[in-house]
This record gives sequence, C-alpha cells and structure tokens, in this order.
Amino acid sequence: MPSYEDLEAKVIDTGICTVCGACMLACPNSYIKSLDGKPKRPKRTMDCVGCTICYDACYMLRHGLMPDIEGSILGWGKRVSVGIYKRILAARTTDRGIGKACQDGGIVTALLIYALDHGIIDGALVAGKDAWVPVACVAKTRDQIILAAGTKYGVVPLLKELRSAVVEHGLGKICVVGSPCHIQSARYLKHKGLPLASAVKLTVGLFCRENYDHRCIMEKASGKGLGIDEIDKFKVAEEFNIYAGGKKLTFPITEVKSCVPRHCLVCEDFSSELGDISIGSDGSSEGLSTIIVRTEEGENLFSCMEKQGLVETKAVEDLAYIKEIAERKKKKGRQTKDIFRLRQERLSETEIAARLGVTEERVSHRLEGF
Ligand SMILES: Cc1cc2nc3c(=O)[nH]c(=O)nc-3n(C[C@H](O)[C@H](O)[C@H](O)COP(=O)(O)OP(=O)(O)OC[C@H]3O[C@@H](n4cnc5c(N)ncnc54)[C@H](O)[C@@H]3O)c2cc1C
Ligand code: SF4
Ligand code: SF4
Ligand code: SF4
Repeated sequence: MPSYEDLEAKVIDTGICTVCGACMLACPNSYIKSLDGKPKRPKRTMDCVGCTICYDACYMLRHGLMPDIEGSILGWGKRVSVGIYKRILAARTTDRGIGKACQDGGIVTALLIYALDHGIIDGALVAGKDAWVPVACVAKTRDQIILAAGTKYGVVPLLKELRSAVVEHGLGKICVVGSPCHIQSARYLKHKGLPLASAVKLTVGLFCRENYDHRCIMEKASGKGLGIDEIDKFKVAEEFNIYAGGKKLTFPITEVKSCVPRHCLVCEDFSSELGDISIGSDGSSEGLSTIIVRTEEGENLFSCMEKQGLVETKAVEDLAYIKEIAERKKKKGRQTKDIFRLRQERLSETEIAARLGVTEERVSHRLEGF
C-alpha cells in the first residue's frame, strides 16, 4: 500500500514536485509541512498511520488522467497548443484602484472582486507576499484580494490553505487562482472527490513559461545592486525585467536559467489549460491582459463584467505568439522527460544528446542536480 515514503521517493525527492500543497491539504493530521520550499513530513512519528491519503492526493503521479479530466470539464472539442477554449481576447480593468496594484491588465483581481460582490464566490485562494516571497492566503474581502495582486516568483503550496478556507473561515464557494500546476492539482482533487475540494467553484489559471526560485532571483537582483525593498515589480517575457524606483532593469533570460526549479523543466502547460478562465500578458501589449475563456462558468462571469463596463476589451494582438510559446513549452517538457528517462536507463550525457539530437550543453543543464 503506497504511503508518504513512496510519495517522497517518487515525487518530492526526484524534484518533480510542484509544491502545489495538495498532499499537505489531504493529510488528515496535517503532518506534511512546507520545509525549505518542499513538502516534508518532519519525521516519522508513531502518529503517521501510513495511509495512502497523501500519495493519492498527488496529481503528478496521475498525468494519464488529465485528458479525461479535461474532457469532462471542457468536452472533447478541438484542441490546440493553448488547450480547448471558447474565446480569446485582450482586456484591462476600468477600476483605477486595481490598475495601480496589479501586474498587467488587473483582470484577475477585477474578476475576483466581481465574483465576490455578486455572491458567485465567498472567498479565494491567492498568493500574497512577504518581502516578495509568495505566501498562500485566503482572501475574503476586496482589500485582501487587492493586497495579493502582482506576480511573485517562487513556489507556493496554495492548496494547503483550502482546509483553513473551509474549516476555519467557513467558505463553501472558493476560487483558486494559480499557476497551471495549481489548477491541474485542484482539478484532480475535485475529480478524485476529496471532500474539501467540493468547495472549489471557480478556477482562474495564470499563464506560465516557468517559475524561479525566490532566493536565487533575489541574489541576482542584489548582484545588480537592487535591495528587496527597492523592487516594485518583476516581469518575465523573452527577457527578465525588474522594475525599481521608476526604472526598468532588463537582462537576458539565460542569466536566470539556473533559478528555474526542476519541476518546471518537465511542465507542458503554459496557458492553464484546465482553468475556467486563463489569464496572462503574452500576446497583448503593456497594461493589457490576454484572457482565454474556457468554460460556461468562465463565460458567464466574464460577459457580465463586460456588460457592466468593468473591463475594456479588444481583440488579442498576437495569438500566433501565444500558441508558439505554448507549443515550445510542450516540446521542452517532453524533451526533458525523455532526458530524465534516458538518464534512468544509465545513458551518458553524450549518448542522450546523440539519441535526442540536442546539444550536450542542453542535456547537462536539464540534468543539473539529477
Ligand atoms: C510564476 C508565474 C509565471 C508567469 N509566467 C507568465 C508568462 O510566462 N507569460 C504570461 O503572459 N504571464 C505569466 N504569468 C502571469 C502574469 O504574471 C500575471 O499574473 C497575469 O498576466 C495576470 O495579470 P493581472 O494584472 O490580471 O493579475 P493581478 O490582478 O495582479 O493578480 C495576480 C494574481 O496572481 C496570483 N499570484 C501571484 N504570484 C503567484 C504565484 N507565485 N503563484 C500563484 N499565484 C500567484 C495572485 O494571487 C494574484 O491574485 C506568470 C505568473 C506567475 C505567478
Ligand atoms: S498520516 Fe497518511 S496522509 Fe498523513 S503523512 Fe502519514 S501517510 Fe500521509
Ligand atoms: S501533491 Fe503537490 S505538493 Fe504534494 S508531492 Fe504532489 S506535487 Fe508535491
Ligand atoms: S512551469 Fe509549470 S510547474 Fe513550473 S510554476 Fe509554471 S505551471 Fe507550475
């Protein structure tokens, strides 16, 4: 019977754990904690009953189920690199209060506030921050939602907060806002029938090329002479940007490649393909968000906001670019999985490179710490 030790051996210690927080949520005794950026049961206690609950809660062990989950939510419609969707457009919030705090077009924040004000949700799981470290939070008010606006790089075990949202805050209509990995995990928990997950009524997924280790990014910023208190915003596109004191510092993405966690190298989902709505900035110009509306729930919500003038919308500028990024990410994820598999078969880096037709440098980068 698989239990915590198997989860540790197959997911946590192999580096493919995305730190979604689902195993921490599922353990009935809350034995799994976030330690040094990873889920860990501090030590084997007599109390850990060696059950299968945490092992069963991990979506990373069940990728084969994702097409079925997708089909049950979105139907078996035409699938492209950005998943199945109803429409794609660009938008920004018309609320100036949100506009100042947000990352791009402020659509995530505007949408949560609208859903809260209209009783569609009674709270949300969001990533707040503590000195730029992302922190999982339950937001129940407009102010708490606005406080969580903006992108923070680093892993965040968001789903562990679902227990507190339901049990301590008494919420029953929750929106999960997160990266594609958080959304996949939330969808898996609902599909599996974890009782706490029945409170999740809406999912807002973010676009995500890759994430960066928080400490590593801060070291890079400090190397550029920037202190944590001076930083106003991070933004990643084809290059890495830090905004501080009204200035924008841009450096090549290759400089932060060493900060990318291993689990991001195998990830194939750029556009949060299982979200009710997915939101990012790629494909739209500065200050606008790109919105992918996927489900009936997402469509109802967004079209009501449009009718009430809460968002300004326009056609998305570069759909081909979004599709290209999504395709690139799938290719990279598949390639990394192949590299890991061949390494497990004990092939050398040279042999792996020759077998896959890639450079040894690439193989070596993907295998760092493997
Ligand atoms: C790790 C990461 C990588 C991303 N990569 C891309 C990319 O490659 N291309 C692209 O177009 N967009 C990317 N995004 C999304 C982008 O940064 C914005 O979040 C998105 O455009 C929404 O903007 P907004 O103004 O509507 O959001 P806001 O209204 O500012 O709200 C942002 C929301 O993001 C959530 N959030 C912040 N940090 C995290 C985190 N670490 N984990 C989970 N949730 C978080 C907060 O809960 C908040 O509710 C990424 C986001 C993250 C977190
Ligand atoms: S009690 Fe069960 S769910 Fe909790 S850590 Fe032990 S094996 Fe995992
Ligand atoms: S459930 Fe999430 S946090 Fe736990 S091991 Fe799996 S991926 Fe990691
Ligand atoms: S690249 Fe994938 S695994 Fe990494 S943070 Fe983004 S969605 Fe999660």
